Amino acid sequence: MKTCPECGGKFFGRVDKIYCSTICRTAHHNKKKQLEYAKVRKTNSILRRNRNILLNAYLNNGNKIHKKELTYSGFVFNHFTHTLETQRGFIFFVYDCGFLSINDQEYELYLEDEQRMSS
Ligand SMILES: [Zn+2]
Repeated sequence: MKTCPECGGKFFGRVDKIYCSTICRTAHHNKKKQLEYAKVRKTNSILRRNRNILLNAYLNNGNKIHKKELTYSGFVFNHFTHTLETQRGFIFFVYDCGFLSINDQEYELYLEDEQRMSS
């Protein structure tokens, strides 16, 4: 006799049979997928927020921003989509919006396809 991990029901079956039914196997699979997707959604929402913060920063302040302002806005520095190596260092991009550290406290902002946002 086995116990189904999904519904807790008792059943007889082959050694490799884990769930009592196709319904329980499918339900378990769907739950697992939902959990995985929740992680993707969480990361996506951080990336969306990061991009909005960079765009708004540019619109309000121009192409330079203090690290403090980004931090206060809820910017998550280790979430970005790709990097571009330049002679001045790595530009970290969140989709089309990039930021480059120019000293301990300031970042320069970039918009992909338009070089620097200010130009
Ligand atoms: Zn079951």
